[in-house]
Amino acid sequence: MLTSKTTNKPLPEITDQTRPFWTAAKSRKLVLQRCARCDTFNFHPKPWCVECGCRDLAWTEAKPTGTVYSFTISRAVAMNLPGWQGELPVLMCLIDLDDGARLYGQVVHCMPEEIKIGMRVEILFEDISEEAAIPKFRPAK
Ligand SMILES: [Zn+2]
Repeated sequence: MLTSKTTNKPLPEITDQTRPFWTAAKSRKLVLQRCARCDTFNFHPKPWCVECGCRDLAWTEAKPTGTVYSFTISRAVAMNLPGWQGELPVLMCLIDLDDGARLYGQVVHCMPEEIKIGMRVEILFEDISEEAAIPKFRPAK
């Protein structure tokens, strides 16, 4: 398992299929695959559209805002991963982006008692390597 020198957390496995997502995040942009036939935004990256199966997908910038669909509050760290210890409790959420895709994401700058289903959130990015950053969310202003 590779660990980020920046965050001391495990690094995602970046493949040719997922690289545009990670490198755009490094440039402070959220990009998702968008279907040329039905306009659906796909997440996670796949070779085909989740709605219609079309293989004509283009990386497209998505709105950096959304709504909390669901969440869990993690008060312990699996496998004692040291990079997470200082952030407990961690708010792991499913976020419905305004453009339609549902992402997993950590909500930060938010107390556990403040997180709510339906809360409006906006994206921010955390660098994890020379190549990549990870999208996170915070309560919308
Ligand atoms: Zn489609």
